[in-house]
Amino acid sequence: MDHFLYRDGVLHAEDVALPEIAAEVGTPFYCYSTATLTRHFRLFDEALEGVDHLVCYAMKAASNQAILRTLAALGAGMDVVSGGEYLRARAAGVPGERIVFSGVGKTRDEMRLALEGGVRQVNVESEPELRALSEVAASLGVVAPITVRVNPDVDARTHAKIATGKSENKFGIPISRAREVYAEAAALPGIEVVGIDVHIGSQLTDLEPFRQAYRKVADLTGALRADGHDIRRLDLGGGLGIPYTRSNEAPPLPVEYGAMIREELGHLGCEIEIEPGRLIAGNAGILVSRVIYLKQGEGRDFLILDAAMNDLIRPAMYDAHHDMVPVIEPAPGTEQAPHDVVGPVCESGDTFARGRMLPPLAEGDLVAFRSAGAYGAVMSSEYNTRPLIPEVLVHGRDFAVIRARPTFDEMINRDTIPEWL
Ligand SMILES: *Cc1c(COP(=O)(O)O)cnc(C)c1O
Repeated sequence: MDHFLYRDGVLHAEDVALPEIAAEVGTPFYCYSTATLTRHFRLFDEALEGVDHLVCYAMKAASNQAILRTLAALGAGMDVVSGGEYLRARAAGVPGERIVFSGVGKTRDEMRLALEGGVRQVNVESEPELRALSEVAASLGVVAPITVRVNPDVDARTHAKIATGKSENKFGIPISRAREVYAEAAALPGIEVVGIDVHIGSQLTDLEPFRQAYRKVADLTGALRADGHDIRRLDLGGGLGIPYTRSNEAPPLPVEYGAMIREELGHLGCEIEIEPGRLIAGNAGILVSRVIYLKQGEGRDFLILDAAMNDLIRPAMYDAHHDMVPVIEPAPGTEQAPHDVVGPVCESGDTFARGRMLPPLAEGDLVAFRSAGAYGAVMSSEYNTRPLIPEVLVHGRDFAVIRARPTFDEMINRDTIPEWL
């Protein structure tokens, strides 16, 4: 459920009509709903009620500080995957003890940042990283709380580019070698083992792969405890999928996910962390764009928008489907015709949809791509010297620009010309 609904024939974000925002900030723009972000965070928080837990929002999904503040105020921790994200979370007011640091290639500089600033735990993904962290922590005279991310070798049954839990993926250490790695960790200076971490992929639409992975984590917890490690925290990653189309079979709900976690892991007495990103932000954001031209091709009609692949790359990168709706609601029974929906970028990959059935649209009309809140704005670029588009946050009747569109001067003046030119 989200808060982007038609009212009197006009698409609203909560209580704000989208044409009003478009008139003020121009198109294209991203628009997020506070009520939807809040609702989705609470679904996870409530799903784990009664279990000692922390929901660490995976901020790579949508990392604007206004979004982080909204979630942090509800009690969210953060899952960060770079030094930049760590600093961004801190700038948004998230205390270090609510930040978990994930990622397959943390540099020593990034480790130093997190250890100096304070961190709940570092999720270590390899032995070389473990040794580097030990050196950095010892040189700072601090102790780094760690989990080891294990790769459980389960098939997440999702898009290949976002599956992370098979042995051929670069993530984590093979679960078969975990006891060795934990033994090494326990012996290293500056390292304190606090738990186990696992994250098997993104946009999972079935609980079964999670269950398989968590069973392996439960077994490993027993084995590591028998080896003398104080395993008291389980970080179960993110990855629960969202419905991108209305016709899609519905992915499992957070409450079902929470029940499965209790079933598989509840008896262990561990603190549970989860790291949802997409499910919190995905349906809490839309991308609003304007029709530039309608063009008739050979047997196809093209709808050319002012948004492009540099603004929302998911269709080009993951073959992702985003529902697209006109901001002015078509009359019931309006006939639809197939269109190729494209942007202005000079690549054929700059195609949002092929043969999409759409009601009649005209130059200047506004349209909205749904489910664009996660992995949308954060993956945008200035390809074709197109400005990063603004982000807007709605809160009831209020809205605010939370990232402004840069001017062309700002973009162009970022280049510096060497002396010899
Ligand atoms: C990307 C990522 C997540 C979030 O995944 P979603 O599918 O957005 O929930 C969580 N944890 C780690 C380590 C990640 O890399």
